[in-house]
Amino acid sequence: MCRHLAYVGPPVTLASLVLEPPHSLLRQSYAPADMRGGGTINADGFGAGWYPEPGGPAARYRSAGPIWSDASFAALAAVTGSGGVLAAVRSATVGMPVTDTAAAPFADGPWLFSHNGVVRGWPQSVAAAAAALPVTDLLTLDAPTDSAFLWALVRHRLRGGADPADALASVVTEVAAAAPESRLNLLLTNGTAIWATAWSHALSVRTDDSHALVVSEPIDPHTTWTAVPDRHLVTACPGHRRFTALATTGEE
Ligand code: GLN
Repeated sequence: MCRHLAYVGPPVTLASLVLEPPHSLLRQSYAPADMRGGGTINADGFGAGWYPEPGGPAARYRSAGPIWSDASFAALAAVTGSGGVLAAVRSATVGMPVTDTAAAPFADGPWLFSHNGVVRGWPQSVAAAAAALPVTDLLTLDAPTDSAFLWALVRHRLRGGADPADALASVVTEVAAAAPESRLNLLLTNGTAIWATAWSHALSVRTDDSHALVVSEPIDPHTTWTAVPDRHLVTACPGHRRFTALATTGEE
């Protein structure tokens, strides 16, 4: 299972979030702490998204290789600063391609998105949900993976004017009903706020008056993190954090 993080707050370098903390995504790529049986390391690609201009479209760097062997990213990350960042390291689900386009973040204008988990029964289990999308959305998926498809579902709702929290919640409940036992930790930011779901996988949040961070695994054990309860959505921005229970399909 992939590991991901999103940050909003004062501008910081990508390196200060992704490479330098004691339990950074770099470290989580080869020594993750809480994979819950979903793979062992996160070496099948990585990506980072940020905002060159506050309020503008996101920029991305994605690769199919392990983050630890990419010197170009390390050099870029040391000098690239932003007040909004979403980054992920990937452990590809068996059978899914290892390409740069399969690595998060997925993007559309100001939106950056990542998925940690797996859609069970892929792709048959979600064929009906796919049929409800515009054909061009399906023809232009970043990659033929469950994560890229989940992004297409979320993006379709955002383009239709849905509230970001509602978009994530409705995708999780629809896919969980169609594909039980799926792991659906979704992460979304527009550079000023973060929305994320915990659905069968680890997720933690840290906020203060200046910043918000949502992470698969705490990147710095010396600061205080709050675990997001399973089957909940978290909305976070500087000075604010809210947990909302996600509707279940009657299994609880
Ligand atoms: N299933 C997704 C993929 O293969 C995400 C994998 C993960 O969370 N490890 O890209």
